[in-house]
Parts: sequence; C-alpha cells; structure tokens
Amino acid sequence: MELLGVIGNPISHSLSPVMHSVALAEAKKQAIYLPFLVQAEGLAAAIKGAASLGFTGFNVTIPFKEQVVPLMTELTSEAKVIGAVNTIKFEKNGKIIGHNTDGQGFLASLADELMEPKDLNCLVIGAGGAARAIVSSLLSAGNDVCITNRTKERAEKLAKDLNVGASEHRICNVVDLSVEGLKDVVAQVDLIVNTTSVGMAPYFNQSPIPLELVTSKHVVVDIIYNPEETLLLKHARQVGCKAQNGVGMLVWQAIKAWEFWWNETPPSKVSMFEAVQDALRKTSP
Ligand code: NAP
Repeated sequence: MELLGVIGNPISHSLSPVMHSVALAEAKKQAIYLPFLVQAEGLAAAIKGAASLGFTGFNVTIPFKEQVVPLMTELTSEAKVIGAVNTIKFEKNGKIIGHNTDGQGFLASLADELMEPKDLNCLVIGAGGAARAIVSSLLSAGNDVCITNRTKERAEKLAKDLNVGASEHRICNVVDLSVEGLKDVVAQVDLIVNTTSVGMAPYFNQSPIPLELVTSKHVVVDIIYNPEETLLLKHARQVGCKAQNGVGMLVWQAIKAWEFWWNETPPSKVSMFEAVQDALRKTSP
C-alpha cells in the first residue's frame, strides 16, 4: 500500500483528500491519501517520519509551503523560482524532492477552460504565494505581466525576484492599486487574475479592483473557489467576459502532482472536478 497525504494547519478544509481519493480509486491504485494536521515545531519530524515510513508523497498547504523548502534534499526548478513547495516526492534512495505545481496547474486550467496562455498582456492582482507561482508561470509561458497589490513593496519585490535572469522571460512591471494607477493598464490587458483573498470570507462584498474597469474584452480568472462566484466574477460574467474560478487551478495542480509522483495522469479529471464541486456545495456559505 502506498501512502500519501496533505500536511497543513488548519487541514480539515483541504479538498485534496477527496480529489485524490477519487482518482486513486478510479486508477485502482493500492494507495491511501490522508490529511495530516502538523504543528510548526513538528514539521521537520513529520517530513523525516514520512520518509522513514516509506511515503510516496505529500502535498503541502498553508502555512508550510515556504517552511518546508529547507527540509528538502532537492528542489525542482519550479520550486526554486517560486520559493515554495506544494508537492513532495520521497524517493527510495532517500531523496526528498520539493516541487511546486500551482503555476503549472493555473496554466493548464486556463488552457483547458478559456484560452492558450501565450502572448497575452496580463494583470495579476496580489503578490503572495499564489501570485508568485502564477506570475512566474505566465512569464515562462511567454506572456507580459503587470502586478498590482495592496502592499506595493511586496509587488515590487516579486517583480524584482522574477525579473532576475529575465532573458528567457518577459519583463514584469508593477502598478498602483488605484483607479488612476490601473486605468491605462487595465485598458490594455487581455487577462485579469485575482490572486488575493478579496472576494472570500470576510471580504465577500468586495472586489480586488474597481469593477468599472472590467469590460467585455477581458478574460477574468479569480483563483478563489469558495465562494464559487466572487463579486469580481459575477460582474465579469454580467458584462460578458469569459471567466473562471479557482476550481480548475485546484484540480490541475493535483493532476500535476500525480504526474510528478507517478509519471502518469489520473484517469478522469471530470471525477476530480465533481468531487471538489460536491465538497464545496456541502460547505459553501
Ligand atoms: P498570501 O500569500 O497570504 O497572499 C494574500 C494576498 O492577498 C496578498 O497579495 C495580500 O496583499 C492580499 N490581500 C489579503 N487581504 C487583502 C485585503 N483585505 N485587501 C487587499 N489585498 C488583500 O495567500 P496565497 O497563498 O497567495 O493565497 C491567496 C488566495 O489564493 C487565497 O484566497 C487562496 O485560497 C487562493 N488560492 C487558490 C488556489 C487554487 O488552487 N485555486 C491555490 C492557492 C491559493 P498584501 O501583500 O498587501 O498583504
């Protein structure tokens, strides 16, 4: 029996166990995937213990994606650029490899549901962990990115970090999060991505950018998945934008984790989507 799981704190809200368990059953794998609540002071012991017990892999969620980085024996290029790990593979030779599938998951979900992510002008709102993964994957795929964030210095740091060695990347800029700062930029972008928590509890009635700037020419992705439709997405759909919530990114980062663990794709992405949507319906506000 192969052992897998997700570590975080809190962990009871995680949708990874339902998604992966459905896929494991469909693939008839002799494997079990469980949620593990870990305390910060026990993180290193948890990783070492899992390696000793012969675990195949872990997913890592809030607040440990950055804290596990020094506990890895190797990092993939994605994990290095993003500076965070959301997927761990334990190899029989003792290697503990840290990877990050958030950016790949975002790109795959965009390509799957809305558009090929190439040669686009993009505005990414936010500069936290998810933004770091999304901006770096958009740049690597050959798109221009502008970042805006409540704390501008954080956006500037993100742009600076990702522009290092920019020869193979497009350049990434930063703009003020205000109508004046955003007006000209938003008029020129094709894709708007919200990576902030604005739109989920307790910010249900807020939009991360002024809604009047979003028009039918934009494609809008809000990576929040609970609620399934934020105020930003509702407005985007009302004015005729193509729009997508965060369920796709969540499912595709899980599919990319499978590919990393086993070099194979789970049997049915549809079942994984349904498992997530069922679970969300039971918990939606
Ligand atoms: P994080 O590292 O804590 O970053 C949070 C971001 O939200 C920062 O840019 C922060 O701005 C901004 N923010 C928070 N509250 C705000 C407010 N009241 N007004 C304006 N900006 C605010 O979190 P994260 O890991 O990047 O996650 C961010 C969101 O993405 C969460 O909603 C999470 O559920 C979602 N997510 C979805 C997926 C998926 O698979 N769909 C994956 C990862 C994350 P400051 O820098 O100014 O604090």
